[in-house]
Amino acid sequence: MLWADRIANEIRDTRTPRDGKTFLIRDEKTISGRVHVGSMRGVAIHGLVAEVLAEQGVANEFRFEIGDFDPFDSIPGYLDAEKFREHLGKPLYAVPSPEQGFANYAEYFGAEFTEVHKKSGFVPNYYRATELYRSGKMDPFIKTALERASDIRRILKEVSGSEKDTSWLPVSVVCENCGKMMTTRAYDFDGETVAYACDRNPDEAKSCGHTGRVAPWKGAAKLFWKIDWAAKWVALGVDIEGGGKDHSTRGGSRDVANHISREVFGYEPPFDIPYEFFLVGGKKMSSSKGRGSSAKDMCDLFPPEIFRLILIGKDIREQIDIDPSGESVPRVYDWYDELAESVRAGEADDHSRLYALSELPKNQAALSAPWQMRFREVAFIVQMAHLSLKEEAARVKGSALIEDEERALDVRARYAKFWLTTYAPEEFKYELQEEMPSAVLSDTQKKALAMLAEYLQNGERTGEELHVRLHEMKTGVPIQPKELFQAIYRIFLNRDSGPKAGWFLAGLPRDFVIARLKEAAA
Ligand SMILES: [Zn+2]
Repeated sequence: MLWADRIANEIRDTRTPRDGKTFLIRDEKTISGRVHVGSMRGVAIHGLVAEVLAEQGVANEFRFEIGDFDPFDSIPGYLDAEKFREHLGKPLYAVPSPEQGFANYAEYFGAEFTEVHKKSGFVPNYYRATELYRSGKMDPFIKTALERASDIRRILKEVSGSEKDTSWLPVSVVCENCGKMMTTRAYDFDGETVAYACDRNPDEAKSCGHTGRVAPWKGAAKLFWKIDWAAKWVALGVDIEGGGKDHSTRGGSRDVANHISREVFGYEPPFDIPYEFFLVGGKKMSSSKGRGSSAKDMCDLFPPEIFRLILIGKDIREQIDIDPSGESVPRVYDWYDELAESVRAGEADDHSRLYALSELPKNQAALSAPWQMRFREVAFIVQMAHLSLKEEAARVKGSALIEDEERALDVRARYAKFWLTTYAPEEFKYELQEEMPSAVLSDTQKKALAMLAEYLQNGERTGEELHVRLHEMKTGVPIQPKELFQAIYRIFLNRDSGPKAGWFLAGLPRDFVIARLKEAAA
């Protein structure tokens, strides 16, 4: 059984919606810059659970918070540090957008992120953290948290070992003078206002020295993260909310939030779905900031159904690892094709279930699984100007392509070309050499190439025939297949490896092949 079906069953067996009608599923992301693809795993997990519950007739709503009310705590490398330095420590909503047309920093990067949700078929209802705070909806919970600050300090110490001094309060005030929130320290709550001083200088954020008292309501202050997390569960009535493995350890942020939820707010925490990391080229979110690691970059690299498969295909307890510049790209297409085969075979198994869920929701009702040429073959053929992709595909399939298959082939070709011009490693790049490249060949290799030229001169040969002939030369010449293939790749592609040689040669103009073989053998 797929993880999403298993989790949906668990939810139905153990929970009823708090409002008696609709399960509320929630996820969030602080928009501190371009969003890493790892954050798409949460979106996909919550999104798919919502889809599966809906499929079972269980009413639910998936809400996603655009985190725009957290401090801007570091300047991403792709931005002009000079321009953004003065904004360090301000709430994200108060930091300017890097480009015109967006209300602020969080809106700009948030729009890029939600565009990826849309393309991959996950469409939660969005709200901003600022809306929640400014509306006053968080105020009762801010009040409770301030009144019970000593309990919160105790929980932090007991659960996570974090010690706060006795004046510490669980809110971060936005300085009325300089507008920063990372530089302030709140103390002394009198029931209506908190005293604060703008005198902390974490990292590069500069405090202004202002001191005063402020009523911490309606967005004037924000609860610190773990307290904020628990308070939002209560404020919104969250039933289901998972989190990444990094938050889910004993004594970790989820553990702390659970304790605060129960002990301070008297609220049973939502159903948890702890999930593993999404690695990019073996690296975790914190360390993979390179090209191809953002949600947008990764999403651009694949058609929606393949991107969805990457996001939902592994059990939540398993890591996902995709390297845009590696073998994992063609491999994920192979994985998808394998699932499609189960569908075409009419099997009702985990493969066909996963295939169906990988399709965009709007396409799931009329599910089709057209035959497709392997991605690595498509990626090779699109680089060979003399080859017709459609004809080659028909040859591999063994019959003409039907309309669905042609459409799928076009899409695959488009993504293959994009990959080849962006991330693909050298070993996937081929250039047919118009002129004979300089190559040092052994006498054995030359002899084999001469025999091959003669074989071709004696008649039209199919890829299969050439394939058999090449392998016969192992005893005929004799020559090791590896040595022979290397010579062929060297003289046609100027490299040491390549596609299946028999079919490759059969696809090239025969006269060209014969002339090149003779030239090399001379
Ligand atoms: Zn200040």
